[in-house]
Amino acid sequence: MYLENIENFIRNIGMGMKNNIEKFDTIGDNHIGTSTETPMRTDAFKLRSDEKIDIIKDDVQHIMETLGLDLSDDSLKGTPNRVAKMFVNEIFGGLDPAKKPKASTFENKYKYGEMLVEKNITLYSTCEHHFLPIVGRAHVAYISNGTVVGLSKMNRIVDYFAKRPQVQERLTIQIVEELQNILNTKDVACVIDAKHLCVNSRGIKDIESSTVTSEFGGKFKEKDTKREFLDYIKLETKF
Ligand SMILES: [Zn+2]
Repeated sequence: MYLENIENFIRNIGMGMKNNIEKFDTIGDNHIGTSTETPMRTDAFKLRSDEKIDIIKDDVQHIMETLGLDLSDDSLKGTPNRVAKMFVNEIFGGLDPAKKPKASTFENKYKYGEMLVEKNITLYSTCEHHFLPIVGRAHVAYISNGTVVGLSKMNRIVDYFAKRPQVQERLTIQIVEELQNILNTKDVACVIDAKHLCVNSRGIKDIESSTVTSEFGGKFKEKDTKREFLDYIKLETKF
Protein backbone atom coordinates (compact mmCIF):
# COMPACT_ATOMS: atom_id res chain seq x y z
CA MET A 1 0.00 0.00 0.00
CA TYR A 2 2.76 2.33 1.05
CA LEU A 3 4.79 1.56 -2.08
CA GLU A 4 1.72 1.99 -4.24
CA ASN A 5 1.17 5.44 -2.73
CA ILE A 6 4.74 6.43 -3.43
CA GLU A 7 4.43 5.19 -7.00
CA ASN A 8 1.26 7.23 -7.44
CA PHE A 9 2.95 10.22 -5.89
CA ILE A 10 5.90 9.96 -8.28
CA ARG A 11 3.57 9.45 -11.24
CA ASN A 12 1.59 12.55 -10.25
CA ILE A 13 4.73 14.65 -9.95
CA GLY A 14 5.85 13.34 -13.34
CA MET A 15 2.50 14.24 -14.89
CA GLY A 16 2.63 17.66 -13.22
CA MET A 17 6.06 18.33 -14.66
CA LYS A 18 5.03 17.12 -18.08
CA ASN A 19 1.94 19.36 -18.01
CA ASN A 20 4.03 22.32 -16.91
CA ILE A 21 6.60 21.81 -19.66
CA GLU A 22 3.78 21.51 -22.21
CA LYS A 23 2.22 24.68 -20.80
CA PHE A 24 5.49 26.62 -21.07
CA ASP A 25 6.13 25.27 -24.57
CA THR A 26 2.71 26.53 -25.62
CA ILE A 27 3.30 29.95 -24.06
CA GLY A 28 6.63 30.20 -25.89
CA ASP A 29 5.43 29.14 -29.30
CA ASN A 30 2.50 31.52 -29.10
CA HIS A 31 4.83 34.31 -28.00
CA ILE A 32 2.81 35.26 -24.96
CA GLY A 33 4.66 37.25 -22.31
CA THR A 34 3.82 36.96 -18.63
CA SER A 35 4.67 40.43 -17.22
CA THR A 36 5.78 43.95 -18.18
CA GLU A 37 8.93 43.60 -16.07
CA THR A 38 11.70 41.47 -17.54
CA PRO A 39 11.64 38.38 -15.31
CA MET A 40 14.95 38.58 -13.43
CA ARG A 41 16.26 36.68 -10.43
CA THR A 42 17.20 38.63 -7.33
CA ASP A 43 20.78 37.34 -7.57
CA ALA A 44 21.09 38.40 -11.25
CA PHE A 45 24.19 40.53 -10.63
CA LYS A 46 26.03 38.49 -8.04
CA LEU A 47 28.44 37.44 -10.75
CA ARG A 48 30.60 39.94 -12.61
CA SER A 49 30.33 40.11 -16.41
CA ASP A 50 33.67 38.33 -16.93
CA GLU A 51 32.55 35.50 -14.60
CA LYS A 52 29.31 35.14 -16.57
CA ILE A 53 31.27 35.01 -19.84
CA ASP A 54 33.46 32.20 -18.47
CA ILE A 55 30.44 30.09 -17.45
CA ILE A 56 28.46 30.72 -20.65
CA LYS A 57 31.52 29.89 -22.75
CA ASP A 58 31.57 26.37 -21.25
CA ASP A 59 27.82 26.03 -21.75
CA VAL A 60 28.01 26.99 -25.43
CA GLN A 61 30.90 24.58 -25.89
CA HIS A 62 28.76 21.85 -24.32
CA ILE A 63 25.87 22.58 -26.71
CA MET A 64 28.20 22.51 -29.72
CA GLU A 65 29.84 19.26 -28.60
CA THR A 66 26.44 17.68 -27.96
CA LEU A 67 25.47 18.59 -31.53
CA GLY A 68 28.55 16.65 -32.63
CA LEU A 69 30.65 19.59 -33.79
CA ASP A 70 34.44 19.31 -33.76
CA LEU A 71 35.71 22.19 -31.66
CA SER A 72 39.31 21.58 -32.63
CA ASP A 73 38.43 22.96 -36.08
CA ASP A 74 39.92 26.45 -36.47
CA SER A 75 36.63 27.90 -37.63
CA LEU A 76 34.71 26.70 -34.54
CA LYS A 77 37.39 27.02 -31.89
CA GLY A 78 36.59 30.61 -30.92
CA THR A 79 32.80 30.33 -31.17
CA PRO A 80 31.99 29.55 -27.48
CA ASN A 81 33.96 32.58 -26.29
CA ARG A 82 32.54 34.82 -29.05
CA VAL A 83 28.95 33.82 -28.26
CA ALA A 84 29.46 34.25 -24.50
CA LYS A 85 30.91 37.76 -24.95
CA MET A 86 28.15 38.67 -27.39
CA PHE A 87 25.42 37.51 -24.96
CA VAL A 88 26.77 39.36 -21.92
CA ASN A 89 28.19 42.55 -23.48
CA GLU A 90 26.04 43.07 -26.54
CA ILE A 91 22.70 41.47 -27.32
CA PHE A 92 21.72 41.00 -23.63
CA GLY A 93 23.68 43.98 -22.29
CA GLY A 94 20.39 45.77 -21.56
CA LEU A 95 19.67 43.41 -18.66
CA ASP A 96 22.22 45.37 -16.63
CA PRO A 97 20.61 48.45 -14.99
CA ALA A 98 24.06 50.07 -14.88
CA LYS A 99 23.87 50.36 -18.67
CA LYS A 100 20.59 52.27 -18.68
CA PRO A 101 20.98 55.61 -20.57
CA LYS A 102 21.29 58.54 -18.16
CA ALA A 103 18.10 60.55 -17.85
CA SER A 104 19.38 64.00 -18.80
CA THR A 105 16.45 66.27 -19.65
CA PHE A 106 16.17 69.92 -20.63
CA GLU A 107 13.68 72.66 -20.01
CA ASN A 108 11.35 73.20 -22.97
CA LYS A 109 12.61 76.74 -23.75
CA TYR A 110 10.84 77.08 -27.09
CA LYS A 111 7.52 76.29 -25.43
CA TYR A 112 6.99 73.77 -28.18
CA GLY A 113 3.71 72.19 -27.14
CA GLU A 114 3.04 69.95 -30.13
CA MET A 115 3.79 66.32 -30.60
CA LEU A 116 7.40 65.29 -31.16
CA VAL A 117 7.87 62.09 -33.15
CA GLU A 118 11.11 60.15 -33.55
CA LYS A 119 10.36 57.61 -36.24
CA ASN A 120 12.14 54.69 -37.90
CA ILE A 121 14.43 53.95 -34.96
CA THR A 122 16.35 50.81 -35.91
CA LEU A 123 15.60 48.01 -33.53
CA TYR A 124 17.48 44.78 -32.94
CA SER A 125 16.22 42.57 -30.17
CA THR A 126 16.02 38.88 -29.34
CA CYS A 127 12.91 36.73 -28.92
CA GLU A 128 13.00 35.33 -25.39
CA HIS A 129 11.18 32.16 -26.43
CA HIS A 130 13.61 31.07 -29.13
CA PHE A 131 16.69 33.29 -28.70
CA LEU A 132 16.40 34.35 -32.35
CA PRO A 133 16.57 37.95 -33.62
CA ILE A 134 13.72 40.43 -33.73
CA VAL A 135 14.53 43.11 -36.33
CA GLY A 136 12.43 46.16 -36.96
CA ARG A 137 11.61 49.81 -36.41
CA ALA A 138 10.34 51.66 -33.40
CA HIS A 139 8.40 54.93 -33.63
CA VAL A 140 8.24 56.97 -30.45
CA ALA A 141 6.35 60.18 -29.66
CA TYR A 142 5.66 62.49 -26.76
CA ILE A 143 4.00 65.78 -25.96
CA SER A 144 6.15 67.86 -23.64
CA ASN A 145 4.70 69.27 -20.44
CA GLY A 146 7.78 71.42 -19.86
CA THR A 147 10.59 68.87 -20.13
CA VAL A 148 12.32 67.59 -23.27
CA VAL A 149 14.98 64.96 -23.95
CA GLY A 150 17.74 64.91 -26.55
CA LEU A 151 16.55 63.12 -29.68
CA SER A 152 19.27 60.47 -29.58
CA LYS A 153 18.17 59.63 -26.04
CA MET A 154 15.03 58.08 -27.50
CA ASN A 155 17.14 55.85 -29.75
CA ARG A 156 19.28 54.88 -26.77
CA ILE A 157 16.28 53.97 -24.64
CA VAL A 158 14.88 51.80 -27.44
CA ASP A 159 18.28 50.14 -27.81
CA TYR A 160 18.71 49.55 -24.07
CA PHE A 161 15.40 47.72 -23.62
CA ALA A 162 15.83 45.90 -26.94
CA LYS A 163 19.09 44.39 -25.71
CA ARG A 164 17.30 41.84 -23.58
CA PRO A 165 15.53 38.59 -24.23
CA GLN A 166 12.16 40.13 -25.14
CA VAL A 167 8.55 39.81 -26.13
CA GLN A 168 7.59 42.68 -28.42
CA GLU A 169 4.59 43.76 -26.33
CA ARG A 170 6.74 44.10 -23.21
CA LEU A 171 9.46 45.98 -25.09
CA THR A 172 6.87 48.50 -26.34
CA ILE A 173 5.52 49.07 -22.83
CA GLN A 174 8.98 49.32 -21.24
CA ILE A 175 10.00 52.06 -23.70
CA VAL A 176 6.83 54.06 -22.98
CA GLU A 177 7.10 53.69 -19.19
CA GLU A 178 10.75 54.76 -19.18
CA LEU A 179 10.01 57.89 -21.23
CA GLN A 180 6.99 58.68 -19.05
CA ASN A 181 9.28 58.61 -16.00
CA ILE A 182 12.01 60.70 -17.62
CA LEU A 183 9.64 63.29 -19.12
CA ASN A 184 7.30 63.34 -16.16
CA THR A 185 4.21 63.01 -18.36
CA LYS A 186 1.83 60.23 -19.38
CA ASP A 187 1.69 61.62 -22.93
CA VAL A 188 4.05 59.13 -24.57
CA ALA A 189 3.42 56.59 -27.32
CA CYS A 190 5.39 53.87 -29.08
CA VAL A 191 4.66 51.68 -32.11
CA ILE A 192 6.98 48.85 -33.07
CA ASP A 193 6.90 47.04 -36.40
CA ALA A 194 9.25 44.08 -36.38
CA LYS A 195 10.10 40.77 -37.95
CA HIS A 196 10.65 37.80 -35.68
CA LEU A 197 13.12 35.37 -37.20
CA CYS A 198 11.54 32.56 -35.17
CA VAL A 199 8.43 33.10 -37.29
CA ASN A 200 10.22 34.01 -40.54
CA SER A 201 12.98 31.39 -40.65
CA ARG A 202 11.60 28.42 -38.72
CA GLY A 203 8.24 27.07 -37.52
CA ILE A 204 5.62 28.59 -39.83
CA LYS A 205 8.40 30.09 -42.07
CA ASP A 206 6.48 33.16 -43.11
CA ILE A 207 9.10 35.58 -44.47
CA GLU A 208 6.67 38.37 -45.30
CA SER A 209 4.86 38.81 -41.99
CA SER A 210 5.77 41.39 -39.39
CA THR A 211 4.30 42.15 -35.98
CA VAL A 212 2.98 45.56 -34.97
CA THR A 213 2.55 46.49 -31.31
CA SER A 214 1.56 49.81 -29.80
CA GLU A 215 1.28 51.49 -26.44
CA PHE A 216 -0.53 54.82 -26.12
CA GLY A 217 -0.29 56.79 -22.89
CA GLY A 218 -2.21 59.88 -21.70
CA LYS A 219 -3.37 62.15 -24.55
CA PHE A 220 -2.34 59.53 -27.11
CA LYS A 221 -5.35 57.49 -26.04
CA GLU A 222 -7.53 60.26 -27.54
CA LYS A 223 -8.65 59.55 -31.10
CA ASP A 224 -7.29 62.71 -32.78
CA THR A 225 -3.88 62.61 -31.10
CA LYS A 226 -3.49 58.93 -31.87
CA ARG A 227 -4.50 59.58 -35.50
CA GLU A 228 -1.97 62.41 -35.83
CA PHE A 229 0.85 60.18 -34.54
CA LEU A 230 -0.13 57.29 -36.80
CA ASP A 231 -0.34 59.68 -39.79
CA TYR A 232 3.22 60.86 -39.13
CA ILE A 233 4.62 57.35 -39.07
CA LYS A 234 2.45 55.93 -41.90
CA LEU A 235 3.54 52.34 -41.47
CA GLU A 236 5.25 51.18 -44.62
CA THR A 237 8.17 49.82 -42.72
CA LYS A 238 11.08 48.61 -44.82
CA PHE A 239 13.35 45.97 -43.34
ZN1 LIG B 1 10.16 33.38 -30.86
